[in-house]
Amino acid sequence: MRILIANDDGYLAPGLAALVKACQGLGDIDVIAPEQNASGTSNALTLGRPLSMFEARGEPVQGFRVVNGTPSDCVHVALTGVLGHRPDLVLSGINNGANMGDDTLYSGTVAAAMEGYLFGVPAIAFSQAHKGWGELDAAAAAARAIVEQVLASAPLGGEPWLLNVNIPNVPNAAELPRLVTRLGRRHASEPVIRQHNPRGEPIYWIGPAGDARECGEGTDFHAVAQGCVSITPLQVDLTDHARTGLWAGRLAAGRTG
Ligand code: MN
Repeated sequence: MRILIANDDGYLAPGLAALVKACQGLGDIDVIAPEQNASGTSNALTLGRPLSMFEARGEPVQGFRVVNGTPSDCVHVALTGVLGHRPDLVLSGINNGANMGDDTLYSGTVAAAMEGYLFGVPAIAFSQAHKGWGELDAAAAAARAIVEQVLASAPLGGEPWLLNVNIPNVPNAAELPRLVTRLGRRHASEPVIRQHNPRGEPIYWIGPAGDARECGEGTDFHAVAQGCVSITPLQVDLTDHARTGLWAGRLAAGRTG
């Protein structure tokens, strides 16, 4: 059993070390993670410059391989040559904060797992529901329990699958009910924050994510609000299948209006 672990908060993030520690004994673990916090970088790959890698020293990051790139870069280089083998499972996280609903499109945590999935390797992304690393050890224990149960029940080596897990920040996270959910939706983001730099020129901070909009029963938001661990199976096909016929009619070749 070979497990590749990455994250998006950077190799020094407590959530990564906690996940690695929690997974000890499950198999051979390789860790390849970004040098800097790369939250919100989605599935970006670094194409305009080469990537460099070094091996971290000192606990709790001893032996982690560190890439000066994105989460997707880390998993991509791992699977295309750096590891020298194909892992059986890719894990990502534990992220500092929730990745629910539309967040999953921006998330580097989900993207690192998705990069494994795109290469045909089953993958799980883990996030804590709230920022600040509160009850991180409990979240790590919950993550390990999920990995163990998944390994016992879901086939590895066949069709790949991708799970997005959000864990409430509570001391008994590993004992919480687990709900399989669908992604909710958020409102549009809060307004951009406009300030001025010391030269008097305008600068802009991306505003915080909006509140949950579609957060009814069955969604990830609802599960976490109810104090449960949310597990959403993800797929990558963004095609609007329900409207392909509509668009074919509108845009059929030779028609003008
Ligand atoms: Mn992050």
